[in-house]
Amino acid sequence: MHTQNPVFIPGPTNIPERLRRAVDYPTIDHRSAVFGQMLKPAREGVKRILKTEKGEVLLFPATGTGAWEAAVTNTLSPGDKVLAACHGMFSRRWIDLCRGHKLNVEVIDRPWGEGAPADAFEKVLSADTGHKIKAVLVTHNETATGVRSDVRAVRHALDAAGHPALLLVDGVSSIASMDFRMDEWGVDIAVTGSQKGFMLPPGLAILGLSPKALAAVDKAECARAYFDFRAMLKASDAGGFPYTPPVGLIRGLTEAVEMLEEEGLEKVFARHRRLAEGVRRAAAAWELPLCAADPSLYSDTVTTIRVPEGFDGTEVVTLAADKYHTAFGVGLGDVAGKVFRIGHLGAMTDVMALAGIATAEMAMADLGIPVRLGAGVAAAQDYYRNSAVPHGADHPVWKAA
Ligand SMILES: *Cc1c(COP(=O)(O)O)cnc(C)c1O
Repeated sequence: MHTQNPVFIPGPTNIPERLRRAVDYPTIDHRSAVFGQMLKPAREGVKRILKTEKGEVLLFPATGTGAWEAAVTNTLSPGDKVLAACHGMFSRRWIDLCRGHKLNVEVIDRPWGEGAPADAFEKVLSADTGHKIKAVLVTHNETATGVRSDVRAVRHALDAAGHPALLLVDGVSSIASMDFRMDEWGVDIAVTGSQKGFMLPPGLAILGLSPKALAAVDKAECARAYFDFRAMLKASDAGGFPYTPPVGLIRGLTEAVEMLEEEGLEKVFARHRRLAEGVRRAAAAWELPLCAADPSLYSDTVTTIRVPEGFDGTEVVTLAADKYHTAFGVGLGDVAGKVFRIGHLGAMTDVMALAGIATAEMAMADLGIPVRLGAGVAAAQDYYRNSAVPHGADHPVWKAA
């Protein structure tokens, strides 16, 4: 794999030079005040990205999955009922993780390509008059299918049912790339990782916790030790960590927030929307349908494209890797082989997206998938050049230091 080519997987994402430099840092004594000076702005910065003023931010050395585990074990007890929809590989894995912790998961199965069903949630929550359900799980952006769920609608469902369950949201592939409003949407726990919208190497589990989530911690009886919120909160507030922190990543996180804020968070979201729309127009020009069932569900960070009957989406990915040294995402779980994915989140530009579209086009043509070379590229070019926002040479993606 030539490292000069961008990756088009939906995480880990391309690391801008500026962040590679930020994470490259000599050893410090993490028990010294210097570390506290690094941790504080990182936690404060993430709060702004999550749009929470009431919440707390905790960082653990782990990935998004570790953040799920931390969320579940710190707020729930074995046997507790939780409500979740299964509509892709990541929502399914979250359900499996809950079952691993002996939670009683009520699963609403939905076709892969649909979102989390707020209306069905509302029915189940309204019927649960005894409030046995302790948490509702939502995968904001199902990275397997390229589907964005409406978190606000799920909050409305909880409120309409007058239900006190916690709202736990997987924002691993949406936070810092797509609109996310922790306080406004009444999200109790938001989880993500360093290697997607934050454009950093993997290794940090990032959590936003509402006061209500923190209030549940003492009552929760799931076993937890490494991920105990209480120890981490106490240490973090004192400017430390209960164990050795990944100093470089925490330093990088502050820098990543700075990059996002220099560009402007709303502009970051708009950039992702444009990038996604160009990729979707390319797919339309190829006459290949998306996995997402409806435009209202389209993800702005990853596009999952169906290949025609008789072709294998995984072969597109394998060929692109072998012949063009470029990474796309394979289909996962129920849609394995039926789709391939173009990730377009993080440090991505129109020019990079066009390279990805051109490469996917070549790989498909090589396999005999009936796409006309240039068709997808032209559709995206047309869209990008007519919707480009001039931003000058100080664009954060290019700024070196
Ligand atoms: C990537 C991803 C995860 C898993 O995160 P890891 O960092 O690989 O543990 C979970 N949920 C979603 C939606 C993701 O995109």
